[in-house]
Amino acid sequence: MSKVKKKVKVIKIDIEKCNGCRACEIICSAYHAAPKYSSNNPARSRIRLIRDPIKDIYLPVYAGEYAAAECMGRDIYVIDGREYAECDFCRAACPSRDVFKEPDSGLPLKCDMCEDEKEPLCVKWCLAEALTYEEREEEAEEEVKLDDMEIGLKSLVDKYGFQNLVDSVVRMTQKG
Ligand code: SF4
Ligand code: SF4
Repeated sequence: MSKVKKKVKVIKIDIEKCNGCRACEIICSAYHAAPKYSSNNPARSRIRLIRDPIKDIYLPVYAGEYAAAECMGRDIYVIDGREYAECDFCRAACPSRDVFKEPDSGLPLKCDMCEDEKEPLCVKWCLAEALTYEEREEEAEEEVKLDDMEIGLKSLVDKYGFQNLVDSVVRMTQKG
């Protein structure tokens, strides 16, 4: 497989600087509204703030990959004397919670780094400078891009299992 140059986009999170204002959630949901900026709803944001003022916890977390099943083991982090709940640092939309799911459809949400914007909007709107943006180039193996049909098949396999899918196709061809 050939090597290609890949641009890696990184948002650095300094949780000590986060004051819990939630501006990042508001701008992210507004940017991704259809049409753009027509509404805002933190539940549709691809960055969520884990917030517990009594414990002085303000933790911004970005939506990552969708997980079809919830994980069997969980972690508890204690940082600077603050104990975080088991799923606080997790970036996945998974069946065990409602975070990072589009509230109407239930479809998973994922941070897209604001697509064509020069700088992610959550970073721009974070006046406390808890979020900073960095770009770097890395060499990587060329990715094999899945086409639409393969993506659709993969989600069906994830949902129903490979054997059930094969059985359905066999039944369909026998009927046809
Ligand atoms: S905008 Fe910045 S300070 Fe406000 S909640 Fe988001 S990360 Fe925290
Ligand atoms: S980078 Fe863009 S898409 Fe990702 S969380 Fe921030 S505002 Fe949302």
